[in-house]
Amino acid sequence: MKLEIGRRSRRCSACSTGFETGRKGVSVLLTAGEALERRDTCESCYQPDPGELANWRFTLSAQKKGLRICEDAIWQVIAKAKADEELRAKPFTYILCLMLARKRKLRRTQSRRKQGREVHTYTNLSRGVDLEVPVPLLTPPVFARLQRELVEFLSAPG
Ligand SMILES: [Zn+2]
Repeated sequence: MKLEIGRRSRRCSACSTGFETGRKGVSVLLTAGEALERRDTCESCYQPDPGELANWRFTLSAQKKGLRICEDAIWQVIAKAKADEELRAKPFTYILCLMLARKRKLRRTQSRRKQGREVHTYTNLSRGVDLEVPVPLLTPPVFARLQRELVEFLSAPG
């Protein structure tokens, strides 16, 4: 499986204005078939899209602080996945659960086999999350690359 993730853009995807320091904008995560698409726009150009999985606001800072993951965006995807089996089955949903589990924000509460596939349940009772996700069949290098791309993808531009 190939996950195509757009790079963080330097310009608004709607009006093409360059993002300079101090500028406020919105990053949007969309599904595009098997892949994920990221769109960055100015705050004033932002329009909700029906295919939207998550959105997060950013302010471009002067110093490069390195990558900071927008955890709120991950929770938005998890909330959507609760009601969407197709989204739950995508490898990136599993990786997002794993990322939250490492931060101890989700707990793996069950592991079983279902129709020949290994499925894990990730739980956070206070957030009402109890999500059963299939473990993706990926080789370790592909898995590692996907995870790297997701971290880059979900990080605020800066
Ligand atoms: Zn714009």
